[in-house]
Parts: sequence; C-alpha cells; structure tokens
Amino acid sequence: MRIAVSSGKGGTGKTTVATNLAVTASRAGRSVGYLDCDVEEPNGAIFLKPRITETRPVNVSIPKVDLLKCNGCGQCGKICQYSAIIAMNKEVLVFPELCHGCAGCWLVCPTGAITESHRQTGQLELGLAGDVHCVGGLLNIGETMSPPVIAAVKEAAPAVDLLVFDSPPGTSCPVIESVRDSDFVLLVTEPTPFGLNDLKLAVEMVRALKLPFAVVINRADVGDGQTKRYCEHQRIDVLAEIPDDRQVAEAYSRGEMACDVIPKYRGLYGDLLTELEKRITAHDR
Ligand code: SF4
Ligand code: SF4
Repeated sequence: MRIAVSSGKGGTGKTTVATNLAVTASRAGRSVGYLDCDVEEPNGAIFLKPRITETRPVNVSIPKVDLLKCNGCGQCGKICQYSAIIAMNKEVLVFPELCHGCAGCWLVCPTGAITESHRQTGQLELGLAGDVHCVGGLLNIGETMSPPVIAAVKEAAPAVDLLVFDSPPGTSCPVIESVRDSDFVLLVTEPTPFGLNDLKLAVEMVRALKLPFAVVINRADVGDGQTKRYCEHQRIDVLAEIPDDRQVAEAYSRGEMACDVIPKYRGLYGDLLTELEKRITAHDR
C-alpha cells in the first residue's frame, strides 16, 4: 500500500501526519517505509530521527559536446525544448541547470558530437527509525529541478507492506511526481481561507490524476467551518479532525511526535490507519 500525504499549502501539518502514521503502522505490526519526497525542505528526519546507514548521490543526465566532431548544423538547439543547449557558428553552449536530461540532443546529433554525461543534483539518505525504513531526498542548494531527486527517493523504496510518501506542498510537478503512483492521497489542510483555497487546488489535481483521496483537517477547531462545508458539498470524506492542541505544538517544537508523547493521539492515528487500509482494500477489489 502506498499512501501519499500531501497538501496544497505548506505548514498545514503534512509531515506531522505522515510521520505519526508511519510510526503508528509500524507499532501495529506492519513493515513500513517512510519516503521524504519534500526534497527542498525534508524535515521528517527531525521527528523520526533515523540512524543513517547509507547515502547515495542523485545524478541527472546532461549533454557533453566534442566540438571537434561538431559541424554546426544546429539540430541540438532546435530540438531542445528548454533552451539548455544552443548552437551558434560551430560554437555549442550547454546550460546544465536548464537541462531536463531528455536525451533529445544526443539522439539527434548527426555527427556523434554529443554524448551523455552526468551531474549530481542531490543525494539520498537511507536509514532506520525503530522499525521504520526511511528514505530521504535532499536537493542541492541552488538546484531548481526536484522531480529527479523525488523519483530517486521512490526508486529506493524498501519492499514493505506500507509506504508513506511525505510529498512537497503545492500542486506543481514535484507534487505530481510524489503522488502519481500512490494508492491513496491524504490531503492535509487547515480550516483557514488560505488553507481552503489551496485545498481546492489540491483536490483538482488529485481528481485530474484520478487518484482516490480524502482529507484530514489539522487544527480543526480554528476557522469558520467553511472547509468542512466545502468537503460536504464536494462529497469529500474527512477522515480525521486533529484539534489545535498546545501539547502537540510543544511536542513539535521539541522534535517529538504526538503519538509518542500524548496517548490520545495513538488512537487517532490508529483509527486513521484503519480507515485508510479499509479504503485502499475496497478500491483494489
Ligand atoms: S538532454 Fe534534452 S533538455 Fe538536456 S540539453 Fe539535450 S535536448 Fe535539452
Ligand atoms: S547537433 Fe551535433 S553537430 Fe549539430 S550543432 Fe549540435 S553538436 Fe554540432
């Protein structure tokens, strides 16, 4: 089972839900993997505190040009959709940070002047937090393309009963890369006008991807009830409402998880896990 925990907006409690869910499932006897796909700001490890056993570079493909073989035909620049390679007067310029590694330029080059090379854009950290297998991705500072690092995190997923994807916030390419092959998407929101606006965008995204989904409302007792009314109107199930609890905020600020330090949250996350498993199983039939 692959559950993606996502949100249209940052700061809604997505990592709190993802880490508590992973630990709750592990304590209930499932073999669990936690994949931190929020590679621009991975912070699941602050709470899970995995013992890192391995690091791996994440490399992307880029072109390498041998000007001695170049005839100046300009085909490489014409095929590149990202202006990452430009040919002018037998001079070929490559802008590696714009390159998407699509291979178009070296496939189209008639003289074999372009070959595939690589550069590192991030790294993976693999480790264990209790019995939870953790894989975290980290995009190098200054890099803009996170999807290859997210794809590498998912490729490194352990063979377990349950994978929890902690996806980046928003609705753009990195989020789609994170959620697209999940069995269920849990959208975490907060009941504020900003939260509701971004929830609506996230709902549009998961509907376009045709993924089953439901909502968790964090800090549920603030706001004016518009988020719940929107979910009712759209027939979206709200699987849990997490109260605005000072104890949770204090645990968070200490890098601790609610399910570790506040007993009532073990039940809340246990019920959420049961509900998710029920829905995924029903959807698979
Ligand atoms: S690999 Fe693709 S994106 Fe990169 S320079 Fe070549 S054509 Fe452009
Ligand atoms: S396609 Fe190959 S030969 Fe043509 S300009 Fe580019 S590098 Fe040179």
